[in-house]
Amino acid sequence: MEIIDNPAFFCYTRDIVVRQPVPPFQNMRTLLIKNATVLVTMDDRQREIPEGGLFVRDGFIEQVGPTNQLPITADEVLDLRGHLVLPGLVNTHHHFYQTLTRAVPAAQDANLFNWLKTLYPIWGRMTPEDIFISTQTALAELALSGCTTAADHLYLFPNGARLDDEIAAAQESGVRLQASRGSMSLGESKGGLPPDSVVETEEKIMWDSQRLIQKYHVAEAGAFVQIVLAPCSPFSVTGELMRQTAKLAREEGVHLHTHLAETEDEETFCEKKFGLRPVAYMESVDWVGEDVWFAHAVHVNGEEVKSFAKHGCGVAHCPSSNMRLASGIAPVKEYLRAGVKVGLGVDGSASNDGSHLLGEVRQAMLLSRLGEGISGFSLSNDPTRKLMTAREALRLATRGGAAVLGRSDIGSLEAGKCADFIAINLNRLDYAGALEDPVAAAVFCHPTRVDYNFVGGRPVVLAGQLVMIDEMKLVERHNRAARRLMENE
Ligand SMILES: [Zn+2]
Repeated sequence: MEIIDNPAFFCYTRDIVVRQPVPPFQNMRTLLIKNATVLVTMDDRQREIPEGGLFVRDGFIEQVGPTNQLPITADEVLDLRGHLVLPGLVNTHHHFYQTLTRAVPAAQDANLFNWLKTLYPIWGRMTPEDIFISTQTALAELALSGCTTAADHLYLFPNGARLDDEIAAAQESGVRLQASRGSMSLGESKGGLPPDSVVETEEKIMWDSQRLIQKYHVAEAGAFVQIVLAPCSPFSVTGELMRQTAKLAREEGVHLHTHLAETEDEETFCEKKFGLRPVAYMESVDWVGEDVWFAHAVHVNGEEVKSFAKHGCGVAHCPSSNMRLASGIAPVKEYLRAGVKVGLGVDGSASNDGSHLLGEVRQAMLLSRLGEGISGFSLSNDPTRKLMTAREALRLATRGGAAVLGRSDIGSLEAGKCADFIAINLNRLDYAGALEDPVAAAVFCHPTRVDYNFVGGRPVVLAGQLVMIDEMKLVERHNRAARRLMENE
């Protein structure tokens, strides 16, 4: 297939970027982080280092350990005494554009299918500029809540919008992006859920998928942009598109992502249309393997959990969204017991309605515990079973997310890995009285913004402020775009 990048299309870039004046920490090769109250490595030994630090060279960690065992200086030095340092959090499922349609009145109290039918026509009015601005907003919110790598799933391309618009905004933000080229090809007239006006032809989807891989995908360690192929869901694409997409992804060495087993409505749809449950349908279209991860995976039985483990499929667990849309509780502990890779996702901002990733860690822990309670589990009757701990929840958002995305270069603070880390000042109202265990405080206490966020050794958040973005100007532009989208409602 010949790929020609049509110059008639160009994405929104610098003219609308809301940028701060000259950011600091730009001209350095080495960076020393020192004196952190606790540095959590998330390595295989689960080391938590008091008075810890990192020595970074050219964006990668060269040494990690107690401060007194590290070099004493570097091009830039940051003293983080009084701070908790964690590996950067990894978000495995999102729809950035939905930050434009949060808390829409008509969709506030709907389940998934009705929520989608209400929002599809509004989303159909988006422009390339809307994609750019909403990406900046989502990534700003994610970065301030500790995220250093985000997977996004964009599956509507109305009015000339392209994945390029999102990638351009992400490149300005400094956060790593797994940009999923989503797609919808099964409109209402062919028995799908979305209106025909927001679906694309399968020929165009395949052409554009290949174009994006060739233009942007970086396979090497430290990649800031990777492309993922991501037909939207069983009820919005054909089986043929699923098969073709899997074939292309494997030829090109990129990963596959889709929504699966999110609701009982979806299960009914799959049984009626394909004569199969959602997981069996995925197996039938060659969508199982180490290179596949599913968002939600709530409604699965024991055999299906085993199938994920056997094939190496990953799961993006989205607790807030599952609660918001009354979808159900994903069996996360069963997945972990079976050896299934699980990461966390905030999901789209129209079903959360926020992008606070550290908050999602807390939600994952609490929802797992609620699920245990509902299932009749009693700690006093069965001392061998354990509630999900704060550290297990943090592991989902770091090592778990990295494994789900197939990235061995992120997720922990170890020599050779990307210098992606966050720091939270422990001396704050939210954590007052919780400092016996600062690591647990970050999960049990009210979710806070982070004070520092570094990606590849470069600051994205410094002293609680976004480095590249003027937050209030961005909010103003974002609200203007959101108002315009809602005007005809
Ligand atoms: Zn989603």
